[in-house]
Amino acid sequence: MSANQPNILLVYTGGTIGMIKDPETGALKSFDFKNLLKYIPELKLLDCNIEAISFDDPIDSSNMNVNYWVDIAEIIEDNYDGFDGFVVLHGSDTMSYSASALSFMFENLTKPIIFTGSQLPIGDLRTDAKENLITSIQMASLQNRGKPVIKEVGLYFEYKLYRGNRTTKINAEHFEAFESMNYPHLAESGVHLKVEFDDLYKPNARKKLVVHKQFETDILLIKLFPGISESVLVPLCNLPHIKGIVIETYGSGNTTTELWFIDLLKLTIKRGIPIVNVTQCAGGSVNMGQYETSTQLQSIGVISGKDITTEAALAKMMFMLGEKVSSKTFKTIFETSLRGEMS
Ligand code: ASP
Repeated sequence: MSANQPNILLVYTGGTIGMIKDPETGALKSFDFKNLLKYIPELKLLDCNIEAISFDDPIDSSNMNVNYWVDIAEIIEDNYDGFDGFVVLHGSDTMSYSASALSFMFENLTKPIIFTGSQLPIGDLRTDAKENLITSIQMASLQNRGKPVIKEVGLYFEYKLYRGNRTTKINAEHFEAFESMNYPHLAESGVHLKVEFDDLYKPNARKKLVVHKQFETDILLIKLFPGISESVLVPLCNLPHIKGIVIETYGSGNTTTELWFIDLLKLTIKRGIPIVNVTQCAGGSVNMGQYETSTQLQSIGVISGKDITTEAALAKMMFMLGEKVSSKTFKTIFETSLRGEMS
């Protein structure tokens, strides 16, 4: 190890990025991460010391769950003091959820945790994995007077670094698979790495890192559509163990004004179950009260998700319920930006 260079830890969880084609069957399978240098010898040329830890059984990120989030967080927590930055290799399918969750788990984070992955496996001739991985490591290595430049959970994909909890996977085929509709990208890779310093998250460096590990998963996501049925929705909202609901509404937070629907939400909130309103539009914000079709939601105590993504809203709800935030303060805290996830 070279003493003056940043130390970067790669955490390999699985996903396409770490897969190679089995020469016999042609099927994609995870490769032994110890062979990383064989596939990306360029890593040796980077100005940093790289170490890697792999999940024992790498997963397709469609199998991601809160226990794996805790696994990722604990690997980073256990190595926090020994490294300057962390790069999490993760399948793209649920990467925005995981990046959101990790952002809530790490309170007072002062080092970069950069999620990345790829659309094509690392061994593929046309792979996007090399650029994504190499530049993610470079982003995690950026320092100013010996301190990391990026002090938040980011997501790097196809030449852009985004705030992780602002992203959504928008394309299953294009290399440009992610978008951050409501917040500008944090950095861009061109001939130079161009960092948007004003848009970076600025944590209070004096506060001690706290890693939160409790999530409540008994929650529901309801996407509204014209014709949504009372006979389906009423029993769902009345499930005895439901702890919270996110509804994806229309436009700026609008819903049907049918009496059964408003009454159902009202009774559910009265039972102490928080309901968060997020828009099903890709960009823009919930603004209850702008239209008549959202005024009642405001008066019955529906929480505004403002311009949060659905991914971040679900992670924030699981996190806040896991933290046992009281129902009295739940609305106020949810409507407050905790990690730059909402404007
Ligand atoms: N299904 C894969 C995963 O999310 C896709 C990818 O890696 O991009 O693990």
